[in-house]
Amino acid sequence: MEYVLTANNLYKDYGRFHALTGLSLSVPKGSIYGLVGKNGAGKTTLIRIICGLQSPTHGDYTLYGVDCRDRRITKSRRRMGAVVETPSIYLDMSARENLMQQYRILGMPSFEGVDSLLKLVGLEDTGKKKARNFSLGMRQRLGIAIALCGEPDFLVLDEPTNGLDPQGIVEIRELILRLNREKNITVLISSHILAELSKLATHYGIIDGGRTVKEISAEELEAACRKCQRLQVSNAPALARVLDGMGVEYKILSDTEADVYARLNVTALTNALSAEGCELISLMEHDESLESYFISLVGK
Ligand code: ATP
Repeated sequence: MEYVLTANNLYKDYGRFHALTGLSLSVPKGSIYGLVGKNGAGKTTLIRIICGLQSPTHGDYTLYGVDCRDRRITKSRRRMGAVVETPSIYLDMSARENLMQQYRILGMPSFEGVDSLLKLVGLEDTGKKKARNFSLGMRQRLGIAIALCGEPDFLVLDEPTNGLDPQGIVEIRELILRLNREKNITVLISSHILAELSKLATHYGIIDGGRTVKEISAEELEAACRKCQRLQVSNAPALARVLDGMGVEYKILSDTEADVYARLNVTALTNALSAEGCELISLMEHDESLESYFISLVGK
């Protein structure tokens, strides 16, 4: 497999404090790699290191196969765009002016591409409105557009949905998926919520205390955290008899609750339950196991 980024046993000390304690991971080309860890796990430290904003105390990393101590790493970094912590935008400029400014900084020969970038991030209709009057989600999308100005094929986003409302989160998620699928951009995205990344990541690196505790693909994670239907009923033993009759796998959780690992025909189920004198109170898709899985690795 080809990797855009590999981190090999990275350490970073701030004085006596060990922020990274032997962190290793590999980001496959074409992936959306979710870097998951609690607050303070070391996500931003790793991102700052790979962006060249800080040096590791020990260990190394490669970008497009180039070692971090090789002078050619500067060239590899030009293939990378990043939004670290808060997006770097000029608040007294419009979205278009911000992008033109970034084009100037990068020494781009023309402003061709600004319009399509604005459209790509859904800011084409913002006209002269200054970034200071943008919503948090719009600012985040503008930050991503700025990171995309140099046409990178690797995009690094540090907690891009932090503080956004549900609509803003959906917009960022859709943008990331579009960039990955339509523009073949590999994305490294950090978050402290595994469930939030589960809607887009193809691979995960779960970190805690400055080191990787697990690298796992989306398929492997799905297998480890099987989705199920959580049923609430008036009488769990009666439900168990019905489910045994249907031959489906289940787990009784309490006198009134059970998880069922199969798609259920609700009409057939309610009919069978009422024949047992049992009521179906609710049925919900349940994937809390994702969070439980995360907690099992990193603790509460
Ligand atoms: P968060 O989601 O809270 O940003 P994070 O996983 O990104 O968490 P980091 O910002 O990488 O975590 O910080 C890791 C640890 O290193 C934290 O305990 C933090 O307090 C500490 N740290 C980060 N930068 C410095 C610094 N410049 N000096 C001292 N300690 C630092």
